[in-house]
Amino acid sequence: GELRKLLESRIRDVPDWPKPGVVFKDISPLLADPVAFAALVDALAERCAGRVDKVVGIEARGFILAAPVALRARAGFVPVRKAGKLPCATHAQSYELEYGSATLEVHQDAFGAGDRVLVIDDVLATGGTVEATIDLIRRAGAEVVGVEVLLELGFLDGRARLAPVLPDGVLESF
Ligand code: IMP
Repeated sequence: GELRKLLESRIRDVPDWPKPGVVFKDISPLLADPVAFAALVDALAERCAGRVDKVVGIEARGFILAAPVALRARAGFVPVRKAGKLPCATHAQSYELEYGSATLEVHQDAFGAGDRVLVIDDVLATGGTVEATIDLIRRAGAEVVGVEVLLELGFLDGRARLAPVLPDGVLESF
């Protein structure tokens, strides 16, 4: 629809970044456009209003989207961060990248028991980042009721990777 067209028009392709052969999707122009940014945050908040207790943002671009959505939805905000950034006791989850591995963490006391949680990130690529995040939320005692990404890189099939751990309809994009 119109929203999807607006959002797509504000995402730019950066060839050969961060390395040769990769086309990076840069959402900076979208964030810098007050109309597109507001339309995105409004749409995300509408989808989850009244349904969630906490909105999780994945470091770093996920933070930028998840915080205003949490505020609008009258939900709390919880950061999932790269290893070593959170000061209190954490759950940690490592996952494989193309070269090497990465670790994400969440505070053990970030959620109330049974909290309904929405996960937000900018781009779904292989799905490893979201998969690790879902794992962390469940280990912290909360329920993942939604995963919202701005963009899915369809050729990497993150959606298929997440299918075994997410019920139908939980993963949405634009
Ligand atoms: P995945 O774990 O392979 O799904 O990678 C997703 C993570 O990498 C997300 O946190 C994204 O922010 C980031 N990412 C991967 N590709 C891109 C891209 O083309 N643009 C922006 N972020 C990306």
